[in-house]
Amino acid sequence: MRIVLATSNQGKIKEFKELMPHDEVCAFEELLGKMEIEETGTTFKENAILKAKTVYDKLNDNHAIVISDDSGISVQALNNEPGVYSARYAGINANDKANNAKLMTKLKEAKLSSTPAFYTACIAMVYQGQIYTVHGWMHGEVIDHERGTNGFGYDPMFIPHGYTQTLGELENEIKKTFSHRSQALHLAKKVLEVLTKKS
Ligand code: IMP
Repeated sequence: MRIVLATSNQGKIKEFKELMPHDEVCAFEELLGKMEIEETGTTFKENAILKAKTVYDKLNDNHAIVISDDSGISVQALNNEPGVYSARYAGINANDKANNAKLMTKLKEAKLSSTPAFYTACIAMVYQGQIYTVHGWMHGEVIDHERGTNGFGYDPMFIPHGYTQTLGELENEIKKTFSHRSQALHLAKKVLEVLTKKS
């Protein structure tokens, strides 16, 4: 099956490709060139659908399955910030470094050196004009400083439940076994299996 990823986030593209080693997976920019998709939704699901549908409509290929993921980290003690604003917490074109710095500042202001947090991933799939969505979550603690360089985004600040190291310190292979994206993708694969059998 030909899967087109509706994301330009290199960290996500790498993870998706690793999670689907037996499928033909490419990023939409390889087919359509650069394109900004404004994330105007207020939930992960709305934004995931928006991205997948935009790419699907532009592709105009009835055999392609377009997959998008909208994800982020929520810190309960900070009113679930940054949530859907995770990618642009420090501003529209903010990079991981700036976003992490803002979260560290917020935690320090709230005098929280460590506090519960969770990642959410919503995967939207568009196939033959129909939209399907699934979710995955990963719970743990967020800390007020970075440790390690593995992963991407907020990973150096996040300690998953059952571990003492951050995702920046743990191997990506370990993250893969329980991450929000892996869990959502596990469900997404079940949907895809049914869809592609039907056609
Ligand atoms: P999106 O591209 O709008 O879904 O933004 C997702 C943002 O959430 C990323 O830029 C990261 O800041 C954060 N994020 C999502 N998933 C992860 C992850 O697995 N590790 C670290 N940060 C993540």
